[in-house]
Amino acid sequence: LVVLSGVQKHFGQLHALKDIDLTVTRGEVVVVIGPSGSGKSTLCRTINRLETIDEGTITLDGQPLPAEGKELAALRAEVGMVFQSFNLFAHKTILENVTLGPIKVRGMKKEAAEKKARELLERVGVGHQAEKYPAQLSGGQQQRVAIARALAMEPKVMLFDEPTSALDPEMIKEVLDVMVDLAEQGMTMIVVTHEMGFARTAADRVVFMADGAIVEENTPEEFFTNPSSDRAKDFLGKIL
Ligand code: ATP
Ligand code: MG
Repeated sequence: LVVLSGVQKHFGQLHALKDIDLTVTRGEVVVVIGPSGSGKSTLCRTINRLETIDEGTITLDGQPLPAEGKELAALRAEVGMVFQSFNLFAHKTILENVTLGPIKVRGMKKEAAEKKARELLERVGVGHQAEKYPAQLSGGQQQRVAIARALAMEPKVMLFDEPTSALDPEMIKEVLDVMVDLAEQGMTMIVVTHEMGFARTAADRVVFMADGAIVEENTPEEFFTNPSSDRAKDFLGKIL
């Protein structure tokens, strides 16, 4: 579904992505882990073209990523993204946050968009908060709204970039539970996270990055019990 091939990205002198090859098949959950600065966020951002690439190709469903215009807006709708900071519109209600994209980008009728938004908010456990504003919700609730907002666009793939790292510990689980649910329902997901419990239970594959390169790619069982690279061993030794 998502294929990166020979992807190179520089920020000035810094070689941020080094010859990245990665294929994510439909329904697969890929967890990306690695030290700070290893290029995990940059990798995510190239997939919905928040970052351009210098070399290589990225395709979604066999199509190269569009560079601009309507096609780019359509791509952003196909690739749902959830960030560490929830990025909700502060002056819009929860319901408006979720219906905005479907109405503007997908051309949905307001009533239909609201019906769907309420279903999604229900699904992520914040159905009763629809008329509130983001600041009135806890971090965990806001992040679940952000997930509902991305899902409202009916994306082909969901990207999560450290979705729980800004949350208080007691809120992490409620967000991870929603993500596990999504994974079980067959959503294709690329998840950057330090939550190793999530990686062990939900990931089909773990991709370990260091210094802009994919160093190791393995099943979670293999990766956690028997990492093959010294970089991964060193990293796991520090976090586990
Ligand atoms: P973290 O775990 O801290 O989020 P990361 O693995 O997500 O790290 P990236 O944010 O992808 O790492 O950054 C990779 C490298 O690229 C870092 O050295 C970072 O400083 C650099 N970088 C990222 N974005 C930019 C930018 N817009 N301009 C210049 N350098 C950047
Ligand atoms: Mg990052």
